[in-house]
Amino acid sequence: MKAIAVFANSRQVKLVDHPEPGLDAPHDVKMRMLDVGVCGTDREIASFEYGTPPQESDYLVLGHEALGEVVEVGPQVSRVRAGDLVVPMVRRPCPHESCTACRADRQDFCFSGDFTERGIKEAHGFMTEFVVDQEKNLIPLPATLRGVGVLVEPLTIAEKALEQVWDIQERLPWGGRIVDDRMRTYRHSALVLGAGAVGLLGAMAVAAAGFETFVFSREKPDGPRARIVQSIGARFLSAQEVEVADLPRLIDGIDLVYEATGASRLCFEVMKVLGTNGVFCFTGVPGRKAPVEVDTALIMRNLVLKNQAMLGTVNAGREAYEAAVRDLGVFVQRWPDAVRGLITGRFAMERHGDLLEGHVPGIKSVIEVG
Ligand code: BGC
Repeated sequence: MKAIAVFANSRQVKLVDHPEPGLDAPHDVKMRMLDVGVCGTDREIASFEYGTPPQESDYLVLGHEALGEVVEVGPQVSRVRAGDLVVPMVRRPCPHESCTACRADRQDFCFSGDFTERGIKEAHGFMTEFVVDQEKNLIPLPATLRGVGVLVEPLTIAEKALEQVWDIQERLPWGGRIVDDRMRTYRHSALVLGAGAVGLLGAMAVAAAGFETFVFSREKPDGPRARIVQSIGARFLSAQEVEVADLPRLIDGIDLVYEATGASRLCFEVMKVLGTNGVFCFTGVPGRKAPVEVDTALIMRNLVLKNQAMLGTVNAGREAYEAAVRDLGVFVQRWPDAVRGLITGRFAMERHGDLLEGHVPGIKSVIEVG
């Protein structure tokens, strides 16, 4: 069967003939892949800066943002059946007994670093026609979300981040959750950095959670991304018009920064304007770059005197995937055009070169496998 494979040693990315997998164990599920999203991580792997093939292979099959349809199930599979739509999770646990995170099925918090990730680290991914995985790694998706289900994986980033933000804000004496009665009178403000797919899905997640939402991005103030932001009731702040130093004037107390740029210098500038009792949540993975100068004393002074918290988060556990499926359903009800507008192109597997070399503009490009 066809698969998009990265050969790091010979520096090639090509369509290969990859062996079709079969069911090996009673809990296995075979899926026909439908849609696979292309993200920055895929582009880094395809430029040989990141990613590791499985031990026995000289290539890595790419792809981790996926939607599949079940075609065959093992005798002990009980939660899905042929015809169901499913989103496969990305990370698989490390083998170490001592890793409490992996042993608790929370490999997104793996201590050892020996986890694998499908399409990224030591396990083949989903840019191929058929995939077999264990039932416990698959999240069922309602058929009504067929067109946008490929957005579940990037949305899990925001879902996991928000779960942790709520936990952190439980530290506040009056409780951090918007649902808390006493908080109803208090409007939280969230600033999202970046208007890529992760940023825009993050903006939808924080807006749906009740934050007054702002998106700060380098795109033009009247472009399609700005229109998506406005259509969900959030405000778009273009870096072409607004400077970081202006943000506190425009936003009355920044309670949450949800960063989705990977631009470290920008992030530490924005750190300086985080509000009192605020949380700064990092989701981007910057490439290795030369060090930059940062006003560490100001940032540390604010962290202490304003009770601020900084948090890094990598996706995601099962709960975040399930929350993403639920929220995607909510977003589609509330903002159907905005959600559909995130998928800006659908392509055949043969177009992998243009997609992975970054020649295709737009928010989220999807490879239609099946
Ligand atoms: C994926 C995560 C993964 C991370 C680091 C991201 O693009 O969505 O699942 O953990 O890359 O490899």
